[in-house]
Amino acid sequence: MKTAPDGGHHGISFLILEREMPGYEVARSLEKLGWHSSDTAELSFTEVEVPDENLLGPEHGGFYLIMANFQWERLLMALGAVGAMRRLLSVTIDYARGREAFGRPIGRFGAIRHKLAEVGVKLETSRALTYHALREFVRPERERREAIARGDWGHPAIAAGLREVTMAKLHTQRAAVEVADECLQIHGGYGYMTEYGIERALRDLRLGPIGGGTDEIMKEILGKRLGL
Ligand SMILES: Cc1cc2nc3c(=O)[nH]c(=O)nc-3n(C[C@H](O)[C@H](O)[C@H](O)COP(=O)(O)OP(=O)(O)OC[C@H]3O[C@@H](n4cnc5c(N)ncnc54)[C@H](O)[C@@H]3O)c2cc1C
Repeated sequence: MKTAPDGGHHGISFLILEREMPGYEVARSLEKLGWHSSDTAELSFTEVEVPDENLLGPEHGGFYLIMANFQWERLLMALGAVGAMRRLLSVTIDYARGREAFGRPIGRFGAIRHKLAEVGVKLETSRALTYHALREFVRPERERREAIARGDWGHPAIAAGLREVTMAKLHTQRAAVEVADECLQIHGGYGYMTEYGIERALRDLRLGPIGGGTDEIMKEILGKRLGL
């Protein structure tokens, strides 16, 4: 929360709030397109008193903690999307082999084969970029931990892999939505039915280009790193 109202980025602190603290309540639960296994709600805080010992990290240093966490969160999202695309491709190849239309498996139609070829390219480019980002991110892990412990937020290890992680997050989240949509199309009417799980993949993956920083924000970060 903001602990120094005029402090901009430098006026944010992390506070641990406990469920039973007076003034805290879940105002209302929110209905979502996907991610139904994870509750999302509007939380309300009215004059909640938080003791000093519930301060997490340095006072007014929350922005740096958010930035440090974002790197790992975005990388995890990219890794998750790679896994999802891999699973979607494998399930859809099986389906294209088994489903027959006009006397042959639909995977024998060029239109379907070409779609799956493109899905394969999206998977491989996503995987290569994500693994590259992961290597760049973890390389200075020891230096990063030490810099965080010292509060040395300007240390180069803090931002290591920022460009690559941002690219991986941007590329994989959009690619995964496109892959899920293509796989749904290949499943035809069954793709639209809940029992095949493809429609769920599309709904769940649609959060990717929004959560953890939107595609537009990823492009802003990358644009700034190009000196623009
Ligand atoms: C299901 C779900 C779970 C979530 N879980 C978490 C969580 O656990 N923790 C957490 O911290 N957050 C969470 N979020 C919040 C999520 O990170 C934000 O929704 C997301 O970062 C976008 O912010 P916003 O909703 O305020 O959109 P806005 O900032 O209002 O953006 C609206 C649109 O404007 C665009 N836009 C905004 N600023 C710019 C700009 N400068 N340049 C160009 N375009 C811009 C955006 O890209 C977007 O298209 C969750 C969101 C959802 C939907």
